[in-house]
Amino acid sequence: MFFLIAGIKPKTKVIDKTPRPCPACGLPQAWLKRTDHYLSIFFIPLFPVKRGEPFLACANCERLQHERQPQQAGYNRTMVRCRECGRDMEKEFSFCPYCGRPR
Ligand SMILES: [Zn+2]
Ligand SMILES: [Zn+2]
Repeated sequence: MFFLIAGIKPKTKVIDKTPRPCPACGLPQAWLKRTDHYLSIFFIPLFPVKRGEPFLACANCERLQHERQPQQAGYNRTMVRCRECGRDMEKEFSFCPYCGRPR
């Protein structure tokens, strides 16, 4: 049976062998790891089919912490308030995108 010998299997590897301080317990026992999914035949991983996101795995508290923070669009941009309609717009804008008032 083909489906018994071939399949997608997760494979976790350590990206950075330098231990980092754990964000949860503070001990320097967290390693940066990544779980890739491999296409395996006869239980031998052949090639990666899906590359995972890096995460921090702590050996002490066994907590997993994803390295990448959730991205908030426009969070770090400086916003200014339109004097006409009172809505927030980006500082670089010369015109308000809501009411069209020039800055
Ligand atoms: Zn920890
Ligand atoms: Zn406006």
